Amino acid sequence: MSAHSLPEDAAVWHSLEIDKALELLDSNADDGLTPSQVEERLLKYGSNELEEHGGRSPWQILLDQFTNIMLLMLIGVAFISGFLDFLSLQQGTLKSGEVPFKDTIAIMAIVILNGVLGYVQESRAEKALAALKKLSSPSVRVLRNGKLADIAGKDLVPGDVMLLEAGVQVAADGRLLEQSNLQIRESALTGEAEAVSKQAVLTLPKDAALGDRLNLVFQGTEVVQGRAKVVVTNTGMTTELGKIAAMLQSVDSEPTPLQQRMTQLGNALVTGSLVLVGIVVLTGIIQARGFSNIQELLEVSLSMAVAVVPEGLPAVITVTLALGTQRMVRHHALIRKLPAVETLGSVTTICSDKTGTLTQNKMVVQSVYTNQKGFRVTGEGYAPVGDFQLKGQNIDLEDHPEISGLLVACAVCNDSVLQKEAGEWAILGDPTEGALMTLAGKASIERDQWNSKLPRVSEFPFSSERKRMSVISQIQEVATGNPGISGVDPIIAGFVSSEPYLMFTKGSPELTLARCNQIYLGNGSFPIEEEQRSQILIANDQMASQGLRVLGLAYKPLKEIPPEASEDTSENELVWLGLVGMLDAPRPEVRAAVAECRQAGIRPIMITGDHQLTARAIAVDLGIADKDARVVTGQDLQRMSDQEIEDQVDLVSIYARVSPEHKLRIVQALQRRGRFVAMTGDGVNDAPALKQADIGIAMGITGTDVSKEASDMVLLDDNFATIVAATKEGRVVYTNIRRFIKYILGSNIGEVLTIAAAPILGLGGVPLSPLQILWMNLVTDGLPALALAVEPPEPDVMQRPPFSPRESIFARGLGSYMVRIGIVFAIITIILMEWAYFHVKSATGDGLSPERWKTMVFTSLCIAQMGHAIAIRSNNQLTIEMNPLSNIFVLGAVIATTILQLLLIYVPPLRDFFGTHYLPLHELFICIGFSALMFVWVECEKIFFRVMGKKNV
Ligand code: ATP
Repeated sequence: MSAHSLPEDAAVWHSLEIDKALELLDSNADDGLTPSQVEERLLKYGSNELEEHGGRSPWQILLDQFTNIMLLMLIGVAFISGFLDFLSLQQGTLKSGEVPFKDTIAIMAIVILNGVLGYVQESRAEKALAALKKLSSPSVRVLRNGKLADIAGKDLVPGDVMLLEAGVQVAADGRLLEQSNLQIRESALTGEAEAVSKQAVLTLPKDAALGDRLNLVFQGTEVVQGRAKVVVTNTGMTTELGKIAAMLQSVDSEPTPLQQRMTQLGNALVTGSLVLVGIVVLTGIIQARGFSNIQELLEVSLSMAVAVVPEGLPAVITVTLALGTQRMVRHHALIRKLPAVETLGSVTTICSDKTGTLTQNKMVVQSVYTNQKGFRVTGEGYAPVGDFQLKGQNIDLEDHPEISGLLVACAVCNDSVLQKEAGEWAILGDPTEGALMTLAGKASIERDQWNSKLPRVSEFPFSSERKRMSVISQIQEVATGNPGISGVDPIIAGFVSSEPYLMFTKGSPELTLARCNQIYLGNGSFPIEEEQRSQILIANDQMASQGLRVLGLAYKPLKEIPPEASEDTSENELVWLGLVGMLDAPRPEVRAAVAECRQAGIRPIMITGDHQLTARAIAVDLGIADKDARVVTGQDLQRMSDQEIEDQVDLVSIYARVSPEHKLRIVQALQRRGRFVAMTGDGVNDAPALKQADIGIAMGITGTDVSKEASDMVLLDDNFATIVAATKEGRVVYTNIRRFIKYILGSNIGEVLTIAAAPILGLGGVPLSPLQILWMNLVTDGLPALALAVEPPEPDVMQRPPFSPRESIFARGLGSYMVRIGIVFAIITIILMEWAYFHVKSATGDGLSPERWKTMVFTSLCIAQMGHAIAIRSNNQLTIEMNPLSNIFVLGAVIATTILQLLLIYVPPLRDFFGTHYLPLHELFICIGFSALMFVWVECEKIFFRVMGKKNV
């Protein structure tokens, strides 16, 4: 064991010098911890995870399951039924062979099963999503044993040396060791939205408030800008975030749209059945017949109550959503919030970034414009092999020193690494920068060699708001190749006379050019003339309208290193170097995905930080907009009021040169117009827009932790086509949920009406016992319903407009279908019941029970549902038009269920348990004949809708 022990009071870290903190933590800023130290500390401090505080306790979750109105009704039924059995036992009126409390036990078993299922679903869903979240959030970069390593955030221990960069979410509390331009947003802890600058060198008074501890970083906060090296001081529940988590009490989570719809359904069913019970009881009393006693009245009511509750529905919904998430993962879409599975189907507008989502994000520089001349660059991919051409002829770079100057800027003002991996040239870092590195490489200008000539001493990092970045380098003398003689590189000498530092800036051409007052022409810098400015802008437009991404480069000699956060004043009076235009080809699959979107009534919108002409060229190529489509820029948005944005938001499909904050205003405007918006984002500043969007989509590859945290879904392949595929899955899931709700509830209503009709028609007794009803609702409805949940998409699923996510469960004819089919069900069964009652009762002397009319009712209700399952597979296609094998599960479920139902009639012990009676074959066929009418009815409805030219959805 090491001697290291942490200060008792963790609140002192900010008052310690760096060395003291490292000493206390027994760590090393250059090498980090050793494997044995890590192992020992993991044992001592546990893993860096927040314990699940807040939220509901497991007991609470379990208890909550039983507050559902339908389950409450079932519990009531179980008690009353138990009480009736108890009375019968007391009075000795129990029929011979009858097991007492059978119904009560069965109902309570179902109640408990449903409760447990709901419990498992809720806690499993949380766990599964937590696992998915882990998958979607990248690892932490640490220094261990002198080497850089990416590890899971939970494996951090006190003393670990962690490296932070923009876009990262801080994984533990720590003391800064060094930093560059570090800006951290601590809103998660302090509620303060503004990012704060942090400084390693400070030591602060012990009583400094949390928000003033500028030499510490805290878990859960976000790096907005810059870089840092940090030694971890606290992990897990001992971090500031952990303390808050521990304090949090239960947090109520909003019910999902699906839960809301299910509550609505439960209320409607329970109210409807209570009204029906009332009618039956009243009729019974008025007619003063049919009810021999109060007990029979109660039995009818109880059976009706059991019949109305779709006991199998929760299980089927659980399975459907789970399968939906799995199918989406197969399409590379990772769901982070479960309701997104179903709400995705309602998306009307997809706002997508351009770079990487619509395009491949594989940049290749094709043009260079400098000293009023346009050069073509040949070569493919990231291999630094290619030629520079002027008017179709290869040039000698010695004759064009202005190009070399530009290329040095490309290599120095760059954070990417170009390297050969398994024989292939590849880049680490931003592809835009990679392309510039490759370009410089084509002229044999390599960063390693330039690192010694121009070592970096400071920087102003890139941000999507500024759309530029700068690097400040110190000019070094190096060996010239002649023994004993050293000097600055001639290219550098061309840039600068006597100053010791050089700043290189690159960024959006318009903004960079606006900050220049001189131009470099290969033989020194000269004041820039208006004519030159306008020629550069014309060249920029020409490149952009070919769909190229264009960057402008500039430099500035400096006497001293500019202070931190002085970018706005320092990046001025620059010397213009030139333009580079790179091709980022559209992803080939996106064109088809855009066309599919349009057919599906979903509007794709491009929102990009790139130039308007580049944006338009790519948008036209992909079919997002046409040639003269209007492009709204970030500057336009800046000027416009919220109302003005709202007025035009339905007409504009391209937004260019926007900053992340504009994205938020665009989503809000779309939402005010009633659109249901999916929005992509990758940067740390995209998080508010992702949260605001109905479906926030983060990029799996290029996305920052912060954007992923804020999202509902993560695109594992960053691809627009994946969003469209997920939307389609969402539609399929929602259609299938509606399909089996229609299927299950149509039969429930049929059962209720049949039970109600028996006493009203004066038939003695209740046709269906609670146990038989449970059997129907769980098994004979449940199995085919499960099979319907995996019904493949109908061919037109992406050829119709989206449905509103706010629509009621009964919308678009579902309510009327349920009632209509329920009535048809009831009419068919009641006719059979009436016939069977008199036929069976009169056919005496065959040794069979006269009560078997009830079994005929039971059987025909079950078999009719089999026909219904086959017919309901499609809303519009006739069954003969469909491939019966396209969902073999339905076929299998129908066959299995029919066999099970027959077992109930023909296997004596089952017969006894379920209270059925033996049916002679001809009576069974009569049941099947009546049942077939259900199938015929649904098929006739489809023909009717087709003839009327209506689409059943
Ligand atoms: P999208 O939002 O569609 O992904 P984008 O990637 O072009 O578009 P940003 O990354 O915000 O959006 O870039 C905006 C602009 O900033 C670019 O058009 C370019 O002019 C400039 N830019 C991009 N990357 C860099 C970089 N590494 N250094 C300097 N400037 C850059």
